[in-house]
Amino acid sequence: MPQTHPISDKLIAWYKKHKRDLPWRNISDPYKIWLSEIILQQTQVVQGLNYYIKFTETFPTIIDLANAPEDKVMRLWQGLGYYSRARNLHAAAKAVKINHNGQFPNTYESIKELKGVGDYTAAAVASFAFNLPHAVVDGNVYRVLSRLFNTSTPINSTQGKKEFQLLADELLNHKQPALHNSAIMEFGALWCKPQNPKCEECPLQEYCLAYEKNTINLLPVKDKKIKIKTRYLHYFIFNYKDNVYVQKRTGKDIWQNLYEFYLIETKEVTDPELILKNKNLKKLVKDINVISITTEKKHILSHQHLYAIFYELKIKKPINFENLRQIKRDKLSSIGFPQLIIKYIKNK
Ligand code: SF4
Repeated sequence: MPQTHPISDKLIAWYKKHKRDLPWRNISDPYKIWLSEIILQQTQVVQGLNYYIKFTETFPTIIDLANAPEDKVMRLWQGLGYYSRARNLHAAAKAVKINHNGQFPNTYESIKELKGVGDYTAAAVASFAFNLPHAVVDGNVYRVLSRLFNTSTPINSTQGKKEFQLLADELLNHKQPALHNSAIMEFGALWCKPQNPKCEECPLQEYCLAYEKNTINLLPVKDKKIKIKTRYLHYFIFNYKDNVYVQKRTGKDIWQNLYEFYLIETKEVTDPELILKNKNLKKLVKDINVISITTEKKHILSHQHLYAIFYELKIKKPINFENLRQIKRDKLSSIGFPQLIIKYIKNK
């Protein structure tokens, strides 16, 4: 077994003194640990906390999650974004129920086979739940390692991923992998922060090459940003008596399996008058009465900027179109919508 690295000893000592008390710490239930990791993948702890509580209360075991209807899972996830996480979560729970007899898999490799689980999550669950020696590398760990070793390889490059995993493996404490992983992540979150790291009170200062070379603010390095795509979403709210019409998003795009209103999408800003003359729209409804047109502010996703334009229309006859389903307007909160539509409904 490799010797313990002095950096790891210092990190663990620091962690015992400074760690935050979070509900997924000090537990060994792999289901709950996995759940917290999926929630926290693209979410801040403060926001993720409520969702973690909601999910564990609604689905206390992985079997409860596996048996739940997908709509219920999506509705609970509503507002957290990156909805593929919720779909994968549900699919993985079903796979555990069917392929593993409801027992959460207990090796790094078998955990990694679950949908939505990558290197990081597999290492986190394997170490936190089963104390297996796998080093985690998340955003916080990348920052700590790049500074400690003064490494400027871009963290989002293939080479960077390999290099940082090797560094993390070297530092890993094989006797206490769970504690070590928690410590290095928490240290990145609370001490070695992106802005104003607490270098003067840092227990690792004597080892930190970036501190010595005064390069802290230049690290970590990231490759240039991916091109941002802009989309204009024209949503039609067909009002028929007390009802409106919604459809489920399918296909491999954003918000899969969430609901929305009838949609016409354009790549550029388009005059609403022109949109209202759209052939498909005309085919769908003959007599329409425009009540209002509202443009919502820009909605930002990781690589997309979305603009939504909501058209409130009164129609005289019910619509008969396979994808559209009628629902009472005051029942809209019972189904899962993306955040951008929820905001519109709330403001109405
Ligand atoms: Fe991070 Fe500063 Fe400590 Fe280096 S000295 S590890 S930059 S907090």
